[in-house]
Amino acid sequence: MAKAERLVIKVGTSTLTYETGKINIRRLVKLCSVLADLHNSGREIVLVTSGAIGVGVGKLGLKERPKDIPGRQAAATVGQCELMFMYDKFFGENGVKTGQLLITKSDIENDKRRTNLENTFEKLFEYGAVPIVNENDSVATEEIVYGDNDSLSAIVARLIHADKLIILSDIDGLFDDNPTENPDARLIPVVEEITEEIEALCGGSGTDRGTGGMVTKIHAARITTEAGIPTVIMNGSDPQDIYKLIDGHCIGTLFVAK
Ligand code: GLU
Repeated sequence: MAKAERLVIKVGTSTLTYETGKINIRRLVKLCSVLADLHNSGREIVLVTSGAIGVGVGKLGLKERPKDIPGRQAAATVGQCELMFMYDKFFGENGVKTGQLLITKSDIENDKRRTNLENTFEKLFEYGAVPIVNENDSVATEEIVYGDNDSLSAIVARLIHADKLIILSDIDGLFDDNPTENPDARLIPVVEEITEEIEALCGGSGTDRGTGGMVTKIHAARITTEAGIPTVIMNGSDPQDIYKLIDGHCIGTLFVAK
């Protein structure tokens, strides 16, 4: 049998939640069903999910994202439970098992822990389970934190030698100008190389609920494309669009691997 195609899919807080901070169940259910289906087709799937802090804030009924670190870390513990409960339920309804991996930078930088992590991923693939990854927000301190899951998804993709990284965003991809300000801004379908001009197209952080934005996505694409992994940034509002991508349609922005 040919080697299974290995896909890392990253989903951000703004895609997973409503502005109320509560989970967008309709979207999450669809995402789980598409990924479970891709898993059933013989592919190896890893989901890198954000939303722990955002969902925790919503579930605890806090008025806003806490400004202090303990506040955010506590919110993450609550939100992470809720997220995994949902993922396990909706993957499970499609007959697919999940496993949770909470990672910090030091797990990647320390040789022994990185090897353990690689082995755990490989075992999960062997067991036919879908690894679901987030940063270990509740223990991570600033020194050991990636801080954004775009970078984390790229690091994971590189670690497990993924064939593709798909970053689901609340925007269609990379535009040649800010599409919220310029109605004539056009989507860039393919980026052959991440030049200074490309980097200059990225604004600041995305939404109040997440930490990303285009800057961290381009940073992620740099890590993956340098490791030979093609990377796509696309809109996650309809998770079924992932099928279009898999079927070879041009969707989002493709960053060509070196
Ligand atoms: N790890 C954070 C969370 O799950 C999110 C980081 C990010 O927004 O990229 O809340």
